[in-house]
Amino acid sequence: VSDFDLSPDELRRLGRLAVEAVAAHRAELDRHPVFGKVGLRAALFDEPLPEEGRPFEEVLAFARAHVLPAPFGNSHPRFFAFINASADPVGIFADLMAHAMNPNCWGGDHAAIHVEHRALSWLAAILGLPPESEGILTSGGSMANFTALAAARAAMAPWNVREEGAGVPGQPRLVVYASDQVHNCVDKAVDLLGLGWKQLRKIPSDEGFRLRVDLLRAQIARDRAAGLLPAIVVGSAGTVNTGAVDPLDEIAELCETEGLWFHADGAYGAMAVLADELRPLFRGLERARSVAADPHKWLYVPYEAGAAFVREPGRLGAAFRRPAEYLVQDAESPLLGPPGFNDRGPELSRAFKALKVWMGLKVHGRRAYAERVRRDCALAAFLAGELDRRPGFERLAPVGLSIVNFRCRPEGLPEDRLDALNRQVVNRLVAGGGFMLAPTVLRGRVSMRVCIVNFRTRETDLLALLDEAGRCATEIASGR
Ligand SMILES: *Cc1c(COP(=O)(O)O)cnc(C)c1O
Repeated sequence: VSDFDLSPDELRRLGRLAVEAVAAHRAELDRHPVFGKVGLRAALFDEPLPEEGRPFEEVLAFARAHVLPAPFGNSHPRFFAFINASADPVGIFADLMAHAMNPNCWGGDHAAIHVEHRALSWLAAILGLPPESEGILTSGGSMANFTALAAARAAMAPWNVREEGAGVPGQPRLVVYASDQVHNCVDKAVDLLGLGWKQLRKIPSDEGFRLRVDLLRAQIARDRAAGLLPAIVVGSAGTVNTGAVDPLDEIAELCETEGLWFHADGAYGAMAVLADELRPLFRGLERARSVAADPHKWLYVPYEAGAAFVREPGRLGAAFRRPAEYLVQDAESPLLGPPGFNDRGPELSRAFKALKVWMGLKVHGRRAYAERVRRDCALAAFLAGELDRRPGFERLAPVGLSIVNFRCRPEGLPEDRLDALNRQVVNRLVAGGGFMLAPTVLRGRVSMRVCIVNFRTRETDLLALLDEAGRCATEIASGR
């Protein structure tokens, strides 16, 4: 029967095997398709529940043969899809240690809790939030937005929304505003918080894909006149489609005069404030009452790590605190320590996600992250320049941070065939194994979207992408 309690020597032996697998995986990424499509090989995983165990070495060998070579691809220099970062090796090893300790990070006076509080205050400092602001690490940006919006809902409802619920007869409905480019996790949060999509206003964006504050102002006035309660504005600090940054300062100003809660979704973009020349784009972020950020994007922390912040202390607690007999500590308890995270979010048991964030910031330092962000954005600008120079390509949006939107436009091909062609080009590129990208739709047009959150990407990777995309487009256009 399998032994769960390994001796230190056995741990070392198996650990060395695992680390060898990690190093080989990184070294051999180039030998496999960027996106490891499983397809028909899915049958490999089709086996009954093991009744008896097999040796670790044997299972590891299977994983090395069939799991590690078929990745999502985001550690590959030619992965440009979505906003998925390459993983910082520091975080890989931090996670190993975090899971070795396996502390439960709901609270208490143990090291992991202090590490999380410190990591959060460093992140808050990066974002320009005041030192007293409060945060919590979450699984990602979606949960960070949900957590912050829960704080906003509790603060903005004139009744006790936790006691009474969100839709109370005789009370006005709370209305949430965002641009038409907002991430769909905000839709999910609005739903889960009981606010209802009918109360989520998607305000049109301008030609740069930024929220139009004039239209926002008018919509707030219309909703007030209709007896609704305008409550929350979500500003995007870097949209997922184009990397556009909403006019955060104007939104902050409007929210302050109108008495609305300004939440900034900085899951993708907010960390770009690290770079001095990008910071002006984000003016107003520091005025947000809550911010969502995502260390597993631009801090290259391995999944999962998001972060939610509120600037007024106590706002997360007001939305989530719910004492339980077995968790309440008396004043003499040795357990008693920094504020517990179970009072700041929906979860009780929580992993030690902070170690990888904290170690990364300590190992690399702020300046190195600023340099990486700058470099990713410079690569995007390089790609845009290259696209503007080459015939057969057309850019579809201004470059926002490190995102470039464009399409192939082979000469003579009519407009109504371009969407299908560009989808085909993307599918060929991905199926060919050389690249990973995912198209989006901008103002009704299919865009081949490139997002660079990758410290392994080089200019040559981008040039190769354009060569190959151009070749595919010509082939497809000529019926091959
Ligand atoms: C990625 C992203 C999210 C969602 O974050 P996850 O970590 O994927 O849950 C939300 N908003 C924006 C702007 C994003 O880029």
